Amino acid sequence: MNPQWLECPCGAKIVHQGELRLVWPQKDENQLYILCPDDSCYLKEVGYILLRRGGNEVRLNRVIFYPAFSSWNLARLGRERGNSLLKQLAKELMKRRVSWEDLGRPRHPSDL
Ligand SMILES: [Zn+2]
Repeated sequence: MNPQWLECPCGAKIVHQGELRLVWPQKDENQLYILCPDDSCYLKEVGYILLRRGGNEVRLNRVIFYPAFSSWNLARLGRERGNSLLKQLAKELMKRRVSWEDLGRPRHPSDL
């Protein structure tokens, strides 16, 4: 049977979105970087969450996985299964991982 989990090209398994770490390196940057669970990963980042700023608001726009990460998984899992797992991971990251403290401006999740 085909594997049912995503994997970083370095070999780190990503079964659950909680295994990924999010980093927002600069206050003015509009990206939250998504880091591989493995500290020694040669890729380090597997993608990022794009933010949209407007006035005093910061909203999540979309998740972008780097081609190195997505094509690796499409090759492993097949296009259909791979795409559906990537889409699911993106959805979970958008829903659950971004705390408003991360964004520097506390907001209620229902504002999204
Ligand atoms: Zn990795």
